[in-house]
Amino acid sequence: NSYEPREESVAIIGAGLVGCLAALNFAKLGYYVTLFELRDDPRLRDTTDKNLRSINLAVSERGIKSLNYVDLEMSLRVLSKIVPMRARMVHDLEGNQKSIPYGLHGETINSIDRGFLNVELLNEIDMNNNIQILFGLKLVKLDFNKKNNDNPIVYFQSNKKKDDDISNPIQSYEFDFVVGADGAYSQTRFQLQKFIRMNFEQEYIDTAYIELVIPPGKKNSYQLDPQHLHIWPRENFMLMAMPNHDGSFTSTFFGPWDLLKNLNNDEKVLGFFQTNFPDSINLIGLQKLLYAFKYHPKGALVCTFCDPYNYKGKCIIIGDAAHSMVPFYGQGMNCGFEDVRVLTDLLKKHNFTTELAFQEYSETRNKDLIAIINLAKENYKEMSQRVNTQQFQIRKTIDNLLYRILGDKWLPLYTMVSFRNDIPYSEAIRRGRKQYNIITGIQIGVATVGILAGYKYSRSLFSSFTNMIIKS
Ligand code: FAD
Repeated sequence: NSYEPREESVAIIGAGLVGCLAALNFAKLGYYVTLFELRDDPRLRDTTDKNLRSINLAVSERGIKSLNYVDLEMSLRVLSKIVPMRARMVHDLEGNQKSIPYGLHGETINSIDRGFLNVELLNEIDMNNNIQILFGLKLVKLDFNKKNNDNPIVYFQSNKKKDDDISNPIQSYEFDFVVGADGAYSQTRFQLQKFIRMNFEQEYIDTAYIELVIPPGKKNSYQLDPQHLHIWPRENFMLMAMPNHDGSFTSTFFGPWDLLKNLNNDEKVLGFFQTNFPDSINLIGLQKLLYAFKYHPKGALVCTFCDPYNYKGKCIIIGDAAHSMVPFYGQGMNCGFEDVRVLTDLLKKHNFTTELAFQEYSETRNKDLIAIINLAKENYKEMSQRVNTQQFQIRKTIDNLLYRILGDKWLPLYTMVSFRNDIPYSEAIRRGRKQYNIITGIQIGVATVGILAGYKYSRSLFSSFTNMIIKS
């Protein structure tokens, strides 16, 4: 159901995933939307461009709910090529594979190519008469027109010429309000900091990533089980692979920057893979693997924390511009999509008075954003180290057992974050920590009973308890 057209105009900065969804959303709410994007239209891009990153994303409940919220039919169209993954597949050094389901009831996270999803959203925008999209324009400055109700004035330059080129004039536009969705290195955020006392922190983790591809096998068959997110956890570094609908997998290598700097010739890369990921060499193909380490761009992983996110009812930042996070919980985009839904709920609550809605958004959303940024950072250890340990298996088994017994009163943290859309991140993490402590208590309790009952009995008691849990 679309809303009545309103007089207000909104500028959205950045036509990435979150900016595109925000544009569709504000157009549906009846606003006149202009979407500005620094880059050229990706649909016109040379697909042989070697610098293109083909990141795969896991879309989960929060993202899907937000897409549905904006437009159910659009959501079905843009998600038509997702590949559902119901479990992690852990690959050990010997090439053995072990499946660890994400949920007890066959819940899935869903793999999709980021570029493909972006193009699908742009195609949806093309079908909407209330959205004007301008490619190749870079936001360079933001100001507020004090004479006209503090309306924002946004200044752009063409991306085709240098900023100081005299033939590259600055163009300015005035809007009723601005939504900055221009990514982790947001210019909107930078400009906003000149007008508000924004707390801001940026943190790089010492991990880089390189994209690799596992091509389809014979007759476009998958070389690995496509219902899984595959990981090769190796403590300080790891390899991951997520399925595409065409039979290939997009794989990502994560490791410390110094390690990558050191893998500076074919011999070293081959030796490293033979030692650590022997089964992956044939899957990727030796030449492709060596090419990737030589030529593919190495990506940095950054977390940004800021607060507040708005200037009155005139400007607000969402998506990575407000909360970039490391990708280890698969929530960056999902959280950005959720921003759109949460903000819209507040606009509706405040009868579209942006000042009240933006203010409440900043006040209430911050704790959830900080919670998920920190959780994503912690999850790198789980994926690259703990998932391999017996302790992880035992904890997960107890967690699942209590979930089975107690139902909604006990939800594993991963379930609350990835398969539920009604529990705020901060609440999920608060409950998750409490449950973590209870599981630790159970383990200590069992061990203590064992000690009290004497060493002889403790071993059999502990192992029968563990067996009981594993069987259940
Ligand atoms: P972006 O995608 O960065 O888009 C910002 C847009 O703004 C860009 O198009 C940019 O060109 C434009 N722009 C920038 N500056 C300007 C300017 N000055 N003027 C005009 N336009 C400008 N998330 C998940 O939910 N699940 C996952 O499984 C997942 N996996 C990931 C794996 C990796 C390796 C990485 C790196 C990220 C992953 N993420 C994942 C995170 C996800 O990619 C991001 O959270 C998401 O893309 C953010 O979208 P965005 O629109 O906010 O920002």
